[in-house]
Amino acid sequence: MIILNSRTWPVALALSAWAAAAQPYGGEARPAIPAGHRVVQFQGYPDAAVRAELASRGVRVLGFVPPSGLLVASDGAWNPGGLELLWAAGIEGASKMGAEFGRPAMGAHLAVFHQDVDPALARRLAGEAGLQVLERADLLPGHLLVAGSWERLRSLASRDEVLRIVPASVELLTHRRVYGCPGPIAEAGAVADYVMEGSQWPADATGAVALHFWFNTVTAKLDESIVREQVNAAFQEWVRYTNLAISPGQSAGAARSIDILFATGAHGDSYPFSSANTLAHAFFPVPANQEPLAGDIHFNDVEAWDVSGGIDLYSVALHEAGHSLGLAHSSDPNSVMYAYYHLAAGLTADDIAGIQALYGKPGTAPAQPTQPVQPTQPTQPTQPTQPTQPTQPPSTPPGGGDTVAPSLTIVSPGSTIVSAYSSSIKVTGTAADNVGVVSVTWGTSTGGSGVATGTTSWSAVVPLLIGNTTVTIRAYDAAGNFGWRSLTVVRVD
Ligand SMILES: [Zn+2]
Ligand SMILES: [Zn+2]
Repeated sequence: MIILNSRTWPVALALSAWAAAAQPYGGEARPAIPAGHRVVQFQGYPDAAVRAELASRGVRVLGFVPPSGLLVASDGAWNPGGLELLWAAGIEGASKMGAEFGRPAMGAHLAVFHQDVDPALARRLAGEAGLQVLERADLLPGHLLVAGSWERLRSLASRDEVLRIVPASVELLTHRRVYGCPGPIAEAGAVADYVMEGSQWPADATGAVALHFWFNTVTAKLDESIVREQVNAAFQEWVRYTNLAISPGQSAGAARSIDILFATGAHGDSYPFSSANTLAHAFFPVPANQEPLAGDIHFNDVEAWDVSGGIDLYSVALHEAGHSLGLAHSSDPNSVMYAYYHLAAGLTADDIAGIQALYGKPGTAPAQPTQPVQPTQPTQPTQPTQPTQPTQPPSTPPGGGDTVAPSLTIVSPGSTIVSAYSSSIKVTGTAADNVGVVSVTWGTSTGGSGVATGTTSWSAVVPLLIGNTTVTIRAYDAAGNFGWRSLTVVRVD
């Protein structure tokens, strides 16, 4: 299991260590898990029986952390015995502030509280942190718009009741009505803002990820041809930048099919459109959901769907399609995947980074879940090499221009989440590339970085602070392509 860690994307899941948290959670001497909000990681998928067992122990399930974790809360310490738990951990304040952590404060922020936190308590905590609450009636439940210094935001982020603090978008600072998205839906519950790798559609037997879409119903508010064209354009905008194919399907409910409907009120799932505040919702891919629901997108048909003015169908479809493909919300207020919709002409660099982390760049080998291609290189996102043939195998363009990223393997430690009892850890591994690896570097979530010794066989000694450190190793070739892998080290005091 790798933790997805790219820029603003959820998330470098930095977790406050308790006990030997990263050890398999077996044996007789199981410490109780403390009260409060925790991410708990299971050996396998936490199915309905596991969730019912948690409820019987007084543990509230607040969200699903793909592929096999839950976000939970309890008012008292609880016993995890018999639950096949791998580890449980709180979420550190620094992690809640994502990529913004450590930067100077810029404008207002959105404080997102856990869904079981009383709204009055949320306001009181913001006040106690010295933050000013900016009133808005149209925020999502559990959201508060707050203004104040960086230190005060950090103080609020340190509270157990807070899930995340992200910068406010421009729209949130105007008087215009905003609409928030409830977030992607999984069978185990709403998908938490923390998503580990493993949320994407799996490749089929040929190694490709090819999906279809099918309209069960369309809105009467626009010509049917316009609805089809707008939604298809939204899918193709994602396809442009990644190694994925999406085309019209042959029937409803098929495997790998995104079924689309426009409905009002109750419409056959557990998420009725009870007000006009929810524009749409989308279901995460297999395996977070099973077919026929996986990937499906439902639009609330009470809205004034339009292509100019009103509620812009393309912008909302573009956002929901991101959820259908396995993306959660981004903390970048300009991105399509920010939790509040805004008019979008296309994807931003942040969105492209997110989708390429799941499926790779267009024209590259099919996505390799354990080693996504790092998406931050500036030349490809704006000019995909083969936008109409995303499933083509890698090719080296005539006349040079190597685009094949090196592959990288971490040999030791042998697990992607490990515990350590010292102030550093030695990481060793191998790297390979079609034209040659020129350097291997390391970086940590705590700000450290350096160059490893060696290339095709490399080693690095990485310093650790108490708590969690995400260590990312990158192997570069001469063209600047790189492959990466990361691991999380829990340093126990
Ligand atoms: Zn959303
Ligand atoms: Zn629905």
